[in-house]
Amino acid sequence: MIDKSKKYGIVGLARSGIASAYKLKELGVIPFLSELSPAQEIPAAEKLEKDFPCEFGGHTKKLLECDCLIVSPGIPLNTFILQKAKEKNIELISEIELGYRIKARDSKIIAVTGSNGKSTTVSLIHHILTGLGKNSLLAGNIGDALCGYDIEKPGIDYIVLEISSFQLDLIDSFKPDVAVLLNITPDHINRYNSFEDYTLSKVNIFKNQTATDTAVLFMDSVEIMHNTKEIKANKLYFSLQNNETAYAYPVDNYIQFGPTTKVPLSNLEIRGPHNYANAMAAMLAVYALYPEPAKIAEAITGFKPLPHRLEFVGSVNGISFYNDSKATNTDSVRSALHSFDKPIRIIMGGSDKGESYSTLTSDMQKIVKKAYLTGDTSEKMYQTWNGIIPLECISDFEDCVTKAYNDSLPGDIIVLSPACASFDKFKNYEERGEFFKLVVNRIIKENEKK
Ligand code: ADP
Repeated sequence: MIDKSKKYGIVGLARSGIASAYKLKELGVIPFLSELSPAQEIPAAEKLEKDFPCEFGGHTKKLLECDCLIVSPGIPLNTFILQKAKEKNIELISEIELGYRIKARDSKIIAVTGSNGKSTTVSLIHHILTGLGKNSLLAGNIGDALCGYDIEKPGIDYIVLEISSFQLDLIDSFKPDVAVLLNITPDHINRYNSFEDYTLSKVNIFKNQTATDTAVLFMDSVEIMHNTKEIKANKLYFSLQNNETAYAYPVDNYIQFGPTTKVPLSNLEIRGPHNYANAMAAMLAVYALYPEPAKIAEAITGFKPLPHRLEFVGSVNGISFYNDSKATNTDSVRSALHSFDKPIRIIMGGSDKGESYSTLTSDMQKIVKKAYLTGDTSEKMYQTWNGIIPLECISDFEDCVTKAYNDSLPGDIIVLSPACASFDKFKNYEERGEFFKLVVNRIIKENEKK
């Protein structure tokens, strides 16, 4: 339920801001909309201006006349207007918090956060629930924003939410029935003051949970184990070690799930240990609300990897290509490196997120045949690995992919796994991945003929 006597403002008119505005309108409340970019840069501006009181091209003091601001996850909390709002005790919430206040009571929430693996894990959970015949809604950072759906209407059994730390920074009453924390590794360091701050925002997901709720936790993470000691939820652990104290862990070629259920790894079409971790987290999340391990194990089969996450693109002359454009931080690249059983050629670089690349050096030395560096960070990466790993800087993205192919011998594997965001040359990681696939398909076509 939302308090309709309050004045609402929306700060930032991207996906979740627009969804929040229309949801409030549907519920009979007209919010005030504010966007930093000029109207010409916002595709929906004309329609928004017809439907709401709006301002474009900057956030003004008009926002300070509101009682509650719904803040887009893209807006740093130290932004001047948000600081002013805080001083005036104006409530600041995320779109996820708004959605939680609005949703029908009977819909259970399964929320997933972590530095990497969120989209894959929520998709796995949704796949399992759908396979079990449940009415499941997948929302949050994946697909549409939570407020973009009819969540106030009863009938949705489970709402499966992918949640970023930015959304968790501004929750108040949000209380998931099941909360999953996959891992915490450095990411978005350019937005947080420290790794500790980033960790604390992730752990916020558990803050309102009680003993009737469940936390699904990765036991191998020191940070997770350390920071979840005090949480009140019932804990279910998964581990990538052969660890019998966890409720799910791999043994030889299967996952031990609970005391009696064995899930053959060959039933999973996703590759690499990190994906086994995601699969275990997904099974435990469903188990918390539907304790039927054998049925869950059956329902997880047939799940296909998502695009841009170690996605097999094709092969020619015995040379294979994988698109891992979504690997925008060092930890996701590390999991890519550990997903192949022989050395790879890797294409890296893009726009900087403030991470140090040296944390990858020892894994790269073992696994990388040669790294092809492109984009804004190529110089920083070159300085990190020059003389340690075979390297080449090629500024043009297409030339870079072509060079990796020209260097390859039959049996070689080429992986785009950038460790960086894409904004130096592309709109987003999807556009980068699609362009990579286009180039690869061109290479395949040209070389098949020979
Ligand atoms: P997110 O939604 O958190 O960004 P994705 O499922 O989209 O996660 O995967 C993003 C990147 O991280 C991909 O490169 C993927 O291969 C890698 N990845 C997926 N799961 C994990 C994990 N559990 N640990 C580390 N890296 C992972």
